Amino acid sequence: MVRAIVGANWGDEGKGKITDMLGQESDVIVRFQGGSNAGHTIINDYGKFALHLLPSGVFYSHTTSIIGNGVALNIPYLIQEINSIVDRGVPKPRILVSDRAQIMMPYHILFDQYEEERLKGRAFGSTKSGIAPFYSDKYAKIGFQVSELFDEETLKDKVERTCEYKNILLEHLYHKPQIDANELYETLLSYRDMIEPYVCDTAAFLQEAIAEGRNILLEGQLGTLKDPDFGIYPMVTSSSTLAAYGAIGAGIPPYEIKDIIAVVKAYSSAVGAGEFVSEIFGEEADELRRRGGDGGEFGATTGRPRRMGWFDAVATRYGCRMQGATEVALTVLDVLGYLDELPVCVGYEIDGKVTKQFPTTVRLAKAKPVYEKLPGWKTEIRGITEYEKLPANCRNYIEFIEKEIGVPITMISNGPGRHEIIRRK
Ligand code: GDP
Repeated sequence: MVRAIVGANWGDEGKGKITDMLGQESDVIVRFQGGSNAGHTIINDYGKFALHLLPSGVFYSHTTSIIGNGVALNIPYLIQEINSIVDRGVPKPRILVSDRAQIMMPYHILFDQYEEERLKGRAFGSTKSGIAPFYSDKYAKIGFQVSELFDEETLKDKVERTCEYKNILLEHLYHKPQIDANELYETLLSYRDMIEPYVCDTAAFLQEAIAEGRNILLEGQLGTLKDPDFGIYPMVTSSSTLAAYGAIGAGIPPYEIKDIIAVVKAYSSAVGAGEFVSEIFGEEADELRRRGGDGGEFGATTGRPRRMGWFDAVATRYGCRMQGATEVALTVLDVLGYLDELPVCVGYEIDGKVTKQFPTTVRLAKAKPVYEKLPGWKTEIRGITEYEKLPANCRNYIEFIEKEIGVPITMISNGPGRHEIIRRK
């Protein structure tokens, strides 16, 4: 069976933890989009890890981890990430990399920085991992596929053509040093040697795994609101964050994805710029940020303080719908136990009218939150393992959210650890 774990919000919903937890029941875990630009925090028996490119299944010895064709593959970064977990006592994971994945080139990372510099105050708040230049090149058909590393003649020729083009931009647009074609070619040969042991036709591998009835988990990065089509364009990422894209970015038939778990955070947080209707500021935000996540809400990749807000039911219902969510995992609920009352954004007021439909960015910019306030539960809920043992006001909050978003909440995460989960069917 194929199952997807994806974010319904702005990312950082705690997908890493849910994937790590469900990884136990999985044979194969696949990353299908994005790159090393966002991180997952995972706390397990080996310690605390921030993974960026590796699927969250790498801690189990029974799983195969796949970097699918849809991923922005940063080869030295991947190798370094594998080494960093092995050095901490994790058994060497079984990793397969798609021969159709494209390679994050050193110049993609540079162009990302140069473009942010050029834009100055109008920048997109990129993590500068090269993601936007990477996907631009992929769709402009000047990207490098892993398979191309293994044909030296074609590679050399393509490197030369690419440098010619990139050097024009470097010289005239960014006024930066040029790329040396020979040096780039040598770098790519070193990438080839690093990645060779992992490369295969992962789509064929997955087809076989499906035929054998294996459990396959597609692990999404970021969330619906960062999707280039359905997110808060242009403050979005450059590859689709939707479960549907899992079929493309992994190379499996769309109808095989039977279960889509949207991970939803019990409050809102976002990194980077962009519309955020239920955002809060000042001391109120600082307090939630300090208490949030596991030791504060700061980006796993960038360390940037996250923007904070109350639960946004309008954005989350939309987020779940565009994911095609069949169930929801509600996370970091334990953090909210300090509040006397919990505002939930149940509508957007735009030009004097209240709507529950998530609009396009231009209209979103005008939206003001309409709140409904629910009573707090004022106790610690960590350690509780049964739904009925949660305080009544806490269950009330969960059930209120469930009704607003229209998808069953089947899992409630009340702590960062792998076992801190309440299952509810
Ligand atoms: P991801 O990108 O969706 O995997 O999310 P991140 O890992 O970036 O952010 C989630 C943060 O919240 C991490 O620091 C997790 O350890 C933490 N976390 C996840 N679930 C819970 C939870 O239920 N309670 C608390 N307190 N922290 C959680």
